[in-house]
Amino acid sequence: ARAGTDAGVNITVNSPDQMRELGLRLAELLRAGDLVMLNGELGAGKTTLTRGLGEGLGVRGAVTSPTFVIARVHPSLADGPPLVHVDAYRLGGGLDEMEDLDLDVSLSDSVIVVEWGEGKVEELTDDRLHVVIHRAVGDTTDEVRHVTLTGLGARWASADLNLLTA
Ligand code: ADP
Ligand code: MG
Repeated sequence: ARAGTDAGVNITVNSPDQMRELGLRLAELLRAGDLVMLNGELGAGKTTLTRGLGEGLGVRGAVTSPTFVIARVHPSLADGPPLVHVDAYRLGGGLDEMEDLDLDVSLSDSVIVVEWGEGKVEELTDDRLHVVIHRAVGDTTDEVRHVTLTGLGARWASADLNLLTA
């Protein structure tokens, strides 16, 4: 698929390590103000991908499941954007509630990664990178994951997501 189309880019990932590496590569494409929406069932690998993103962005603190908090801010160790990692599962009220979290950073200066944000955080921006992770019936090991990345909006129209397949 070509970048900027609705079809998105499909990548097969064979292990947790490869998922982390995909996050590392994706981090190179990200900049302040970007919103990445992660979808996929529990255990799909959303947090594992975010861990790679955090490494790629060079942020402080281990990226873990934000189970007991709605959002966690990981400041950059250099002068890059902080990573704001949100678990929208607990974000009942959606965006209003997120703006009420009193995060110490401005969202427009951050890279925001939201797990399970569908229907909740779209109003943040029309420019979104949607990442869907799923397991397929018939995969030979239970470590195979299929990742689909679709960029929405002007921000992603010119980005070449095919770079991620390399
Ligand atoms: P989620 O955040 O989507 O609930 P996690 O990233 O927290 O998922 O957990 C994914 C689990 O699946 C981890 O235990 C990880 O080791 C395992 N796993 C197996 N194969 C993969 C893979 N290809 N990519 C990511 N995680 C994988
Ligand atoms: Mg998770």
